[in-house]
Amino acid sequence: MSITNNLQSIKAALPDHITLVAVSKTKPVSYLMQAYDAGQRIFGENKIQEMADKWEQMPKDIQWHMIGHVQTNKVKYMAPFVSLIHGVDSLKLLQEINKQALKNNRIIDCLLQIYIAEEESKFGLDEAELASLLSSNEFEELKNIKIVGLMGMATFTDNKDQIKKEFTQLKTIFDKTKALTISNCQLETLSMGMSGDYQLAIECGSTMVRIGSSIFGGR
Ligand SMILES: *Cc1c(COP(=O)(O)O)cnc(C)c1O
Repeated sequence: MSITNNLQSIKAALPDHITLVAVSKTKPVSYLMQAYDAGQRIFGENKIQEMADKWEQMPKDIQWHMIGHVQTNKVKYMAPFVSLIHGVDSLKLLQEINKQALKNNRIIDCLLQIYIAEEESKFGLDEAELASLLSSNEFEELKNIKIVGLMGMATFTDNKDQIKKEFTQLKTIFDKTKALTISNCQLETLSMGMSGDYQLAIECGSTMVRIGSSIFGGR
């Protein structure tokens, strides 16, 4: 299978309201260009330096999504161009994104990462931490970021019931948070689902899937 074929068959099977992020981390620009030529315009990377290098080399109508864990001291390298940051999980990081967004005269869209997996290694906020972040005065002051949704990763397991339970839990938190009226937090996007579990994620209410290996091959 070619990248073009992989991409086309995945896109053909996705419902219209689902946004596809082509996760291109570790892959060379030539692979990304194949996806670009097949019409893909949203790419996800998990390392800021690698994303910035690819951004420099590739057409400027691409939307770059940062899907990995973000180190505060590297935010400045993506602030001029990043279109959505998925993995935000602290006030400190939001304050830095806000600061760098201001310097670039932008408002940067972010997703808050919510912890839903059973594994201890996964990053993210729990529901109580989310509530306290969103209700804090410090958050209210951040005018150059906008929280446009939530993101989560299920436990890495074959147990479909387990994954479904975790995605459903995230959807419930999403719906509750969406109902709040906060000027810099207006939820539209629920980023959940990867190559192995995106169909299940869509059944559970995902609006954005992050697919890498099913498009570009294994890493
Ligand atoms: C790598 C990665 C993906 C894509 O994973 P695949 O299994 O290759 O589809 C999705 N989301 C995040 C956060 C990732 O780091």
